[in-house]
Amino acid sequence: MPRMLDVSEDVRAEIGDAEADRLLVGDSAPGSYDCTSCRTPGDSDQERTSTVLFVGDETAVLAFAHATCIPSQVVNVAEDQLKGAMRSITGDESQTPEGLMPEQAVLGITSGLVLIEDDLRPALVVEPTGPIARPGTDGRGGDQFLQLLLEQGFQPTQDLNRLPGVLPGWSVLLAAGRLHAVLQPGPGGGQVAWWQAHQPLQVTEGWRTAANKSQSVLVFAAPVGSIGQQPREDLLRDALDKAAANAVLVAATMPLAGT
Ligand SMILES: [Zn+2]
Repeated sequence: MPRMLDVSEDVRAEIGDAEADRLLVGDSAPGSYDCTSCRTPGDSDQERTSTVLFVGDETAVLAFAHATCIPSQVVNVAEDQLKGAMRSITGDESQTPEGLMPEQAVLGITSGLVLIEDDLRPALVVEPTGPIARPGTDGRGGDQFLQLLLEQGFQPTQDLNRLPGVLPGWSVLLAAGRLHAVLQPGPGGGQVAWWQAHQPLQVTEGWRTAANKSQSVLVFAAPVGSIGQQPREDLLRDALDKAAANAVLVAATMPLAGT
C-alpha cells in the first residue's frame, strides 16, 4: 500500500532513487513519527507526510513532518549539529540504502543515567523485541544478538561499576536535544546508522547535560527479555546489574555527535 509520503526532487537527489523508492512503497516509511516542525505526532499511513532531510557540510539526517506544516525539502544546518553523522547518505560511493534505517522495528532503546565511578553517566540500553538471527541465515542458529555485538567490538560486562571501553568508529547522534541514531562504521568509510529513530527520542535535560559534559554515551545491550521496560532509573540499574550477573550484558562507550 503506498503511503502518503512526499519526497521532493531535492530530497530524492540527496538520498538517491533507491532509498526514495523504498520510502514511497513503505518499506522504510516511518509510520507514526513526531513532526519535525510542530513536534506533535503524525502518521504517514493517515495523513500526507513530508520527508525532510537535514544536511550539514558532509552529513545528513532524514526526518518527517506533516505536509500541512512544511513541504518536503532539504534543510541545511550547522555541521556541528550533525557532526560525524551518516556521511553515506550524501553521495559516498559506499552508500547502502538499507543502512539508512536498519532494524528499527526490532531494537528498543531506553535512555537513563547510570552511576559509575561516582559520576552519573548518560546511558542507552538496547534490547531487541525478539531474537536476532545472523544476517543471511534462517534464524535456526538461535538468538545471535550478543555474539554479533561481541564481534563488532562490544565488551562483556560483568561489573557495572567499571566504564566500558571506547568502540572505535561508533557514535551516538543527538540533534536539538533528541536522540536520532546510533552510528557504526560504514563498509567504505564514514558511518551508517546501526539504529535510527522512527521519531527522534526525547531525552531528559539531565541526560542531555551529562552527555554534553562527558561528550560520550555508554551503550549497553542485552538480548530480548533481559532488561524490559523499566519506568525508573533505579529499576533500570537493577535490571542492568541482573543482566550483568547473568552474563548477558555487553557494553561500549561511544562519543557523542551533535548536541
Ligand atoms: Zn506538524
